[in-house]
Amino acid sequence: MNPLAQLVALSHRLGAVDQDLVVLAEGNTSVALSDGTFFVKASGARLAEVSENDFARLRLAPLVEALIDGAQADAGEVLTAARIEGATPSIETFAHAAAIGLGGAQWVAHTHPTALVALLCSSGGEEALLAGPLFPDEAVVCGAPLYLRYAEPGVELGRAVARLVSQHVRFPRTVLLGNHGLFALGASAAEAEAVTVMAAKAARVRVAALIAGGLRPLPASSAAELEKRADEVERRARLVGEAVVS
Ligand SMILES: [Zn+2]
Repeated sequence: MNPLAQLVALSHRLGAVDQDLVVLAEGNTSVALSDGTFFVKASGARLAEVSENDFARLRLAPLVEALIDGAQADAGEVLTAARIEGATPSIETFAHAAAIGLGGAQWVAHTHPTALVALLCSSGGEEALLAGPLFPDEAVVCGAPLYLRYAEPGVELGRAVARLVSQHVRFPRTVLLGNHGLFALGASAAEAEAVTVMAAKAARVRVAALIAGGLRPLPASSAAELEKRADEVERRARLVGEAVVS
């Protein structure tokens, strides 16, 4: 399957109603191609219903330049100049460009999972989400999450994601956006999907754990070990459904 067809299939799986990851036209997906361009979902299209016509292809370099350049940039003008073909790209394209161009991702899934958004909108949410993984599969699949306080979608959010992911030597898989949602970064479509569904599950577990008396995260040493142990790297590959470069 070519990358665009895979991106459509990934979008359909993420947009399925029973997943509770998005409603209406929420969320978007992207994939980097080997020629310095990428596909990203168009503004207004529903993930569950997208076709190949609902994606735009853009050049990555001008978007990354606009994100690392401190100068005032008009979002619409930058997107128009970078667009090669296809529909009008989502305003969240800037955050996708940061995740691909600076975060090292090849596949990116952005969603608004209900339980996770609930925590991201709660006064104690940041602390709860950064308390460390609660169970082994969360540590293995999602890694250590990066957290951003709310930023306006568009260039501002893209710049905030760019700053955050640039500070990390290893490519992060989970970026949490305060009062907003999740960016899952993957080396494959399967990995971006696995990070998304596991982060959504981990949020549901957190909400239940908070109700049941409070969080009891894995010991920090176990969480760090789980992320790098060879057998866990293999387990992550199995959970994700294909080989993953650690
Ligand atoms: Zn969003």
